[in-house]
Amino acid sequence: MNAVDIGSLAVNFKRGASPFSALDLEDLRVEEGECFGLIGGSGSGKSTLLRVLAGLQRDWSGGVRLLGRSLEVKRAFTGSLRREVQMVFQDPYASLHPLHRIRRSLREPRQINGLPFDERSLIASLDQVGLPGEVLDRFPHQLSGGQRQRVAIVRALQLQPKLLLLDEPTSALDMTVQAEILNLLQARRQDTGMTMIVVSHDIHTVAHLCDRGVVIKQGRIEQRLDRNGLIERADGQAW
Ligand code: ADP
Ligand code: MG
Repeated sequence: MNAVDIGSLAVNFKRGASPFSALDLEDLRVEEGECFGLIGGSGSGKSTLLRVLAGLQRDWSGGVRLLGRSLEVKRAFTGSLRREVQMVFQDPYASLHPLHRIRRSLREPRQINGLPFDERSLIASLDQVGLPGEVLDRFPHQLSGGQRQRVAIVRALQLQPKLLLLDEPTSALDMTVQAEILNLLQARRQDTGMTMIVVSHDIHTVAHLCDRGVVIKQGRIEQRLDRNGLIERADGQAW
C-alpha cells in the first residue's frame, strides 16, 4: 500500500486581489516504510505540501489518500489518522505551548490518544536524543532551539506514527547532533516500518536518509529522483 497517494493536489493562496498557486502537483506516491525527500528552495511549497498531509492546510483541491484513507477538503483529521500522522515543524517554538512545561507537552498528546504515560520510558526516549530528564520541568523558552527541536521529535515519535512528516527537522542543530538525530530516525523507521517524508533544502541530508525524492520548484515537481539520482545530485553539489 502507498502511505501517500496524490493523484493531484492544488493549493491556492490570495496575494492581494489575485489568487496565487502555491502548489500544483500530479502523481506523487510514497510507499509504506519508505523515506521520501522533498527538496526545493525557499518558497517552493514544501511546507504547504506537508501541512496538507498533516491535516493543517485544509483548503486544497484534488485527490489525496493517506494510509489508505481519502482526505476530505476542509475537514480536520478524525480517528486514528490524528495519531498516525505526526509532523515535526521547522520552528519547534511554534509547536510547543509556551506556558506549559515540557512534561505536559509530552504527556498530553499521549493521554489524548489513549496511550499510557510512563515517565521512566519518556526519560529513556529523551536520553536517546541527548536530552537530560530535567528538561521535563522546564518551559520551552528555557531550552535552546536545538533542544526544543529534539523535544518535538520525541513528542512525535512517542505517538508511534505510521507517517512522520519532518520539515527541516535538524536545521537548528549542529552537525554532530544533526547526524545523531537523523540516525535515530532512520533506525526507528527500520524497526517500525513507519514512513518518513523529509523536507530539506539540503540535498545531502536527503541523499543520506532517503530512498527517493522530488525536487519542487514554484509548487511543481521539477525532477523525480531515485536513490542513485539523489546521490548523483548530492555529489554535484558542495556542502
Ligand atoms: P517552503 O516551505 O518551500 O519554503 P511554503 O510552502 O512555506 O514554501 O510556501 C510556498 C509559497 O506559498 C510561498 O510563496 C509562501 O509565501 C506562500 N504561502 C505559504 N503559506 C501561505 C499562507 N498561509 N497565505 C499566503 N501565502 C502563503
Ligand atoms: Mg518551509
